Amino acid sequence: MNKIFKLTQPAVETLAEIYGTPLLVLSLAQIEYNYKFLAENLPGVKLHYAVKANPDEQIVRTLAGLGSCFDVASDGEILSLTELGIAPDRMVYANPFKTHNGLAVAKRTGVYKFTFDSESEIYKMAKAVPGGAVLLRVRVDNPKALVDLNKKFGTHPDDVLRLLTIAREQGLDVAGLCFHVGSQSVTADAYVDAIRICRRLFDEAAQAGFNLRILDIGGGFPVPTIDTEFDILQITQTISRSLSKYFPATEIWAEPGRFICATAVNLITRVIGTQQRNNQQWYFLDDGLYGTFSGVIFDHWDFELISFKSGDPIAATFAGPSCDSLDVMFRDKLTVPLNMDDLILVPNCGSYTSASATVFNGFAKTARVVWEDVKQDIEKTVKDSTNKSIA
Ligand SMILES: *Cc1c(COP(=O)(O)O)cnc(C)c1O
Repeated sequence: MNKIFKLTQPAVETLAEIYGTPLLVLSLAQIEYNYKFLAENLPGVKLHYAVKANPDEQIVRTLAGLGSCFDVASDGEILSLTELGIAPDRMVYANPFKTHNGLAVAKRTGVYKFTFDSESEIYKMAKAVPGGAVLLRVRVDNPKALVDLNKKFGTHPDDVLRLLTIAREQGLDVAGLCFHVGSQSVTADAYVDAIRICRRLFDEAAQAGFNLRILDIGGGFPVPTIDTEFDILQITQTISRSLSKYFPATEIWAEPGRFICATAVNLITRVIGTQQRNNQQWYFLDDGLYGTFSGVIFDHWDFELISFKSGDPIAATFAGPSCDSLDVMFRDKLTVPLNMDDLILVPNCGSYTSASATVFNGFAKTARVVWEDVKQDIEKTVKDSTNKSIA
């Protein structure tokens, strides 16, 4: 099993005491570990971190230092990466429907690689970024993904040649194909199916005089959850084998988001109220659906809550701190009975969490510290207090 960043109880208590709650703790060592894991197990694949999963500047800087490329989807993402000194040729603007401002910023900053899946986008790109290198996004069905994006994006394989032809006529550099199997794909099946379909499409395109040179296999690589089991090594090996078989001589890209950042962040949150309502136990936390737990809505994610207490589990409702009725994260969630001020650790909190958090109702975005910056101090404080309590 993969290494996963998880704070200990004494570290959680000390961090909460020093920095207050709610608090996000980011491990850059885990980011590095995750990046290297994929780089090693998908050999030869150029990794483009999907910035939307977590645009934290320290994450982006760390990945840039490791040689990563980036999947960006907006003018804002292009501009923040440019400000960090990341060269435009390390970015792919992988949003099938780009805004006019996004294309203008791409032109201005020199970003020249794009994905698309519609005819209307071709004319827009030909005008705004003439000669741009474009990858056509192909639809791949993946009912097993947690978030299946193929209902929203991707052109039907039957329409691929027509769109490639129009793109060529419009003067774009028709560079290849891409797909995205959807997020948290727990088997390799969808990748293998998509790779096979793309092989056939590459061959058909070659017969029509295209020289496609890039295949982008998207993101979707899974991370551990409360209730899914999978073998990430087996998934990457199966994908790798399929790539060597069908695309031995093609440049391959991938766009991992969740896999890089999910396991690198822990949330420390606190019980700020308890209430019995209609025979249901309610707990109010100081982070909520409008904050770090936004992934419950936007990412359909079920977070693990660790309370470091023992007791017989009960089914409880967990709500956030805002005054809105929507701000309920979990119903009938099994937990040991909790008390006012109890601390809760939420591991695997780094993807589609803070990225989609709001400041609704005046709650600031949850502060975050980098674990490697504070680790020595925290561990020393923990050690000193343990010694004191022993003495
Ligand atoms: C969101 C997204 C990704 C990242 O997906 P993960 O499931 O987080 O790996 C990759 N490619 C595209 C086009 C996306 O929209």
